[in-house]
Amino acid sequence: MITPPLGRILDTSRQRCTFSPGDTDEATCKTPASWHVAWSADMENGLACDEHMAVAQQYAYLDRHQVGGDCSMPGSSWDFDRKRCFIDGCSSPESAVAEQSMPLEAS
Ligand SMILES: [Zn+2]
Ligand SMILES: [Zn+2]
Repeated sequence: MITPPLGRILDTSRQRCTFSPGDTDEATCKTPASWHVAWSADMENGLACDEHMAVAQQYAYLDRHQVGGDCSMPGSSWDFDRKRCFIDGCSSPESAVAEQSMPLEAS
């Protein structure tokens, strides 16, 4: 498996996989999540570890991106173009630099 150059390491320790067959506390995965998945246009969303992202891919989903520091935070919004979540007015200098280095004509 090839790991993409993510650039910086984010603290995602609070963001756990929400996979929960039967929707019970005992069945919930709780592995640190690596994917943020949007299930519907209503922005129903969940977090998934690598193992459960593979399971999730069997189902229809709207969008997904790698879990970042703003994912699942109160007030965060899903950015489909940049494949991340962001909180208005709180963009860090690091993410501003990352945006500038992105090719403008990326499809
Ligand atoms: Zn999981
Ligand atoms: Zn997210």
